[in-house]
Amino acid sequence: MTDGRRRPAPRATTLLAALLAVALAVVVPVLAGPALLGPGGAADAAARYVSPLKAETFYTSSMYGPRCLPVANASAWHIGIDLEAQNGAPIYAVAAGTVTHAVNPKNGNAGYVMVKSSGGGVRYDLVYVHMAKATKYVHAGQKVKAGQRIALVGSSGPATSPNLHLEVWKGGYGKTHVNPSTWLRARGVSIARARIFDQGVKTPTSCTYYSTATRLNIRSGPSTGYRVLKTVPRNTKMISKPGKKTNNFVPVTVGTTRGWASAAYVSPTKVGSGGTTKVTYVVTHDTWMRVGPTTAYKHVKAVKKGTRITVVYAHIKHSRDVSVGGKRGFVLDARLRRG
Ligand SMILES: [Zn+2]
Repeated sequence: MTDGRRRPAPRATTLLAALLAVALAVVVPVLAGPALLGPGGAADAAARYVSPLKAETFYTSSMYGPRCLPVANASAWHIGIDLEAQNGAPIYAVAAGTVTHAVNPKNGNAGYVMVKSSGGGVRYDLVYVHMAKATKYVHAGQKVKAGQRIALVGSSGPATSPNLHLEVWKGGYGKTHVNPSTWLRARGVSIARARIFDQGVKTPTSCTYYSTATRLNIRSGPSTGYRVLKTVPRNTKMISKPGKKTNNFVPVTVGTTRGWASAAYVSPTKVGSGGTTKVTYVVTHDTWMRVGPTTAYKHVKAVKKGTRITVVYAHIKHSRDVSVGGKRGFVLDARLRRG
């Protein structure tokens, strides 16, 4: 009572109104909170754009722009954004549209779903990449709504870990790629707010790669048609430039030789003599797997002392981004020993 008027005697109707008010007070905060945020963080049910992954279930590892290859055959100029998540986490259509492609992984290529949308009279093709089965929920020609589950997060194709690589093409695929993060923000969806954290990989001034082939040819140009300048053994250090890749060849400097190496045989880390380095960790004390790399983050699950960890995706801030029993999360280095 702020207006000073006398409170009327409670009659049946006002009691009902009061009860309704209590009921609404309970319902409204729920609606105003996570329920209204929808599967991917849309402002309301009528919103036309949503986050492709549920808020607070992913982190960003690679943003739009030049980068070093995180893995062989990856792109040097990243035309999308990478959202790291649980393997099998649902992917939602960012905008309503028509599925133009649902392509399963094949011959080392990633599975992907492409959805044609339009906004303000402009065509936008959104490409969702790395799923293990692109045809699980959708097929070409199918209409989808914003927020509709279209696939599950996977790691098919060139990927170091389960993640959703998202591209936005203005004018249609192959025309103009735009920064998905900026594009989404202009449509009311903030990846920066929805993510758990950003891995914060900054664009370096140079890239260091190691040859993964037993004998790798360094050629004078970006194809196998060019002459071999030099042949280098496995784990030879090569310096390259972020954002540079032509015909799946990267420019490299090896000692005093400047040439081109196939992007299929470069790695940002040295490899063991048998192929990729396999490191197993053993958990030294009962601990928690968390959604982020410090103790400030929420628990994913408890991890018992003695648990062996064989799947390690990344090393971030004194923690390992790992998979244990099908769950992905972070375990502090201080709770691990090599085993
Ligand atoms: Zn990517």
